[in-house]
Amino acid sequence: GKGLAVFTSGGDSQGMNAAVRSVVRMGIYLGCKVYFIREGYQGMVDGGDNIEEANWSSVSSIIHKGGTIIGSARCMDFMKREGRLKAASNLVTRGITNLVVIGGDGSLTGANLFRQEWSSLLDELLENNRITKDQREKYKHLHIAGMVGSIDNDFCGTDMTIGTDSALHRIIEAIDAIVSTAYSHQRTFIMEVMGRHCGYLAVVTALSSEADYVFIPESPPTVDWRDKLCYKLEQARVNIMSLYYLALVAALASEADQVFIPEDPVPNNWVEKLCKRLQQERKSGQRLNIIIVAEGAIDREGQPITAELVKKVVVDNLQQDTRITVLGHVQRGGSPSAFDRILGCRMGAEAVMALMEATPETEPCVVTLDGNQAVRLPLMDCVRRTKAVAQAMADKNWDLAVQLRGRS
Ligand code: ATP
Repeated sequence: GKGLAVFTSGGDSQGMNAAVRSVVRMGIYLGCKVYFIREGYQGMVDGGDNIEEANWSSVSSIIHKGGTIIGSARCMDFMKREGRLKAASNLVTRGITNLVVIGGDGSLTGANLFRQEWSSLLDELLENNRITKDQREKYKHLHIAGMVGSIDNDFCGTDMTIGTDSALHRIIEAIDAIVSTAYSHQRTFIMEVMGRHCGYLAVVTALSSEADYVFIPESPPTVDWRDKLCYKLEQARVNIMSLYYLALVAALASEADQVFIPEDPVPNNWVEKLCKRLQQERKSGQRLNIIIVAEGAIDREGQPITAELVKKVVVDNLQQDTRITVLGHVQRGGSPSAFDRILGCRMGAEAVMALMEATPETEPCVVTLDGNQAVRLPLMDCVRRTKAVAQAMADKNWDLAVQLRGRS
């Protein structure tokens, strides 16, 4: 059978185990010899016990576990050709020419580079007598299929990345817990959620928890952000749609009529508006306020809008009892949701199918979700688009960033 290996790389996310399980079982079902590579690219470079043959039962009882049972790592060695040479040698000696990579855009970029270099890596290994002529010929084509594991939902070309839905569950649980204590003490809570470059978690969280405000990286308020504020949901629906299709769905599915997003093109007095809003809420009988801040929220000068800064604004102006909760890695922990388990299963099966159908000319693909269908997209196109979003944000061109990130 064909040699196929699966590995997880970069930050972990819930649902990766479901994907690994699916790859292993689909691979075995289709007659492949399937391997785990532990600790991401590091295991590929180091070889030895890190590359281990998998069997049907080695992926039993993992679908409900968070994280990734085969480990994930960042790997400096793989950034250098010498490291990739070692990795190629480890794969060829085991007859592995099909790789399923589960990771973020960095991991997928590395896989693509590896494939581009494959021929020259094998030539060099042959020259140095590290592989035989037969091996050089037999394993001359490397096939790659990727899947995106990330809680941030920060990858272009897919409706959802594996892990996002579970992270949302975790965040919502935490907010619901905080709401009950905030209610008792009439407090204002500022919650920082993950999302260095992507406000998806923040927006969906805000919509589904009736937050009063949300700050995200893609759509920062102007530098004078205290003088500007956000829209009411009713006014902002169109903007939300362009920000992200799924955010709209979340808005409609929840009682989100008190949500603000920072997309107001009309100059407003930020402090006045915020204070008015918070005061109004209290006057009308609300005993608490919730403000969501994405960890990467910035103003239009690129200065961070941190939870601390928002707290200072609220305390200085309203003297409200205000607390900050930074959820941190709790968001990445715990068991995957049903959605992420199924997503991992579907993507994994599709990735193996893509590899089995590949010809020498087939370009590396990434398996994504589009309108609830598993689709195969050219890996580098998606990576390029994802990197273009980051560039647009670095260039302070938020309209372009939002447009590029949206569904195409
Ligand atoms: P996350 O979304 O969690 O950041 P990621 O896959 O983008 O996931 P990175 O740290 O960017 O995470 O990449 C993971 C690993 O992929 C790196 O440690 C490195 O081994 C490999 N890698 C990334 N970029 C490249 C590259 N340009 N060339 C070779 N290898 C790379």
